[in-house]
Amino acid sequence: MDPTTSSRRGFLRHAAGGLVISASLTAPETVQAQSQTPDSPTGSVLRTRGQLSSDGRTFLESERAVPVAGRADVLVCGGGPAGIGAALSAARAGAKVQLLEVAGCLGGVWTAGLLTKILDTENKTGIMKELLGEFMMRGGAVARKTKGTVYDPEIAKLVLEELCVAAGVQIQLHTRLVGTVLDERNRVAAVLTESKSGRQAWLADRFVDCSGDGDLAAHAGCRFDVGTGADCACQPMSMLALLTGVEPEAIQPFVRETGSEAKRRLLKLMEENGIMPTYRAPTLRHLHSGVYSLMTNHEYGVSAFDAGAITEATLRARREIHEIVAGMRKLGGPWKELSVVATAEQIGVREGRRIRGRFAITAEGLAEGLRHEEAVCRATFPIDVHALDGSGNKEISKSFKQGGLKPYDIPYPSLVAADVDGLLMAGRCISGDFIAHSSYRVTGNSVPMGEAAGLAAAVSLRKGVQPHELNWNDIKEDVSVRQ
Ligand SMILES: Cc1cc2nc3c(=O)[nH]c(=O)nc-3n(C[C@H](O)[C@H](O)[C@H](O)COP(=O)(O)OP(=O)(O)OC[C@H]3O[C@@H](n4cnc5c(N)ncnc54)[C@H](O)[C@@H]3O)c2cc1C
Repeated sequence: MDPTTSSRRGFLRHAAGGLVISASLTAPETVQAQSQTPDSPTGSVLRTRGQLSSDGRTFLESERAVPVAGRADVLVCGGGPAGIGAALSAARAGAKVQLLEVAGCLGGVWTAGLLTKILDTENKTGIMKELLGEFMMRGGAVARKTKGTVYDPEIAKLVLEELCVAAGVQIQLHTRLVGTVLDERNRVAAVLTESKSGRQAWLADRFVDCSGDGDLAAHAGCRFDVGTGADCACQPMSMLALLTGVEPEAIQPFVRETGSEAKRRLLKLMEENGIMPTYRAPTLRHLHSGVYSLMTNHEYGVSAFDAGAITEATLRARREIHEIVAGMRKLGGPWKELSVVATAEQIGVREGRRIRGRFAITAEGLAEGLRHEEAVCRATFPIDVHALDGSGNKEISKSFKQGGLKPYDIPYPSLVAADVDGLLMAGRCISGDFIAHSSYRVTGNSVPMGEAAGLAAAVSLRKGVQPHELNWNDIKEDVSVRQ
């Protein structure tokens, strides 16, 4: 399909003795390359060999022959809102798509994160509109009333799986990307994953990083930025939960959809009863038939790249949710049966890496209402920086809002990696600064970004050029000619 395929074969030949992720890591002993064969008994594994360094601080792992698990035209890492947009659009444009997702469901923060509210959807078309329609049609009265923007995470899981399967997307869940391989022309050629299937290699001609944290791009060696820059302070993480057991009529004034005053009422009620949530704008939403979602937690200063710190934050957050619910149950009345249905499997991560692209969206762009000839969508959501630490009001850092915001464009080049070829990004890891990210990160923008990146991946492959060699208007034109 792609004129570059012969070179990919060259890369494969080069890598035939075992994929070398980092040439600088010399194995202490080169063991006979092992591989699983069709005769290997069920449950057999690729054994690890290597040597502990003399200071006991590192383990030097020996080379292993990693099986190639799949070959695709377009590989999408991460099945969150951006990854869904990317996988669906690439597959519908005729590409063979592989979607890799570490969670046990598709949807990212929408499902594993129990988000329940999709922001910045008003002016969106395409896949975002289609998904809202599905969430609305298959959901209950609240989903219908809110045009699908308040949705049931369980319905979302099913809808996303069904749409991806119908589009022919190959999905592998429970699979984490742990490495990226470049060929000799600085193009992404393969990724490595770890899962119950062990370590696996996946080949593709184009890659879209929708991991939220920019994992694929970081492993490819792309430059990136984190947090505010100076001291890397990041937005807090938050765990969400589903609750039940309340008297709907009586608690209506505390439900977010009745207006922003609801948050203040809920905080007042909590504080008057000695409950001090770490997030000072507690948000209660009615989802359907007696089920509510609650966001009332902030975890400050947690790195998105430190599994130990994320674990500690997760345990703290889950304990806080249960303590708050137990505390509110003691209020009696409409709250006396309040209980937790579920806490999120994945704590919500607002910020990871912002990968350097060929255009960066900045606070200045937001202030002036950036117009760009290669706009993939227009964002309208306000600057939304949650408090960076537990001091102050523990809600929003208003100081970052000073420059203001007018509706602005998200340009195609901000989705194209600057440092390697064959790689696009979508969702919260695209190219922009700290303040701009706080606005464009919401999921009503992530889906159209993914849709654009997936389409660009498929069209660039069809045209035999790299994504950065295409103009967004050429991509749209190519699609309309074929329709
Ligand atoms: C607490 C909280 C509240 C928010 N509130 C709202 C709101 O009300 N409305 C709204 O629209 N937005 C909201 N946002 C913002 C929004 O959730 C994110 O910016 C959005 O999820 C971005 O979508 P994404 O697809 O880029 O990332 P994600 O939703 O984070 O999806 C990334 C996916 O990639 C997977 N993944 C990550 N790393 C790997 C890897 N190495 N290998 C394989 N898979 C991987 C993850 O499991 C996940 O499924 C909120 C965010 C948080 C944290």
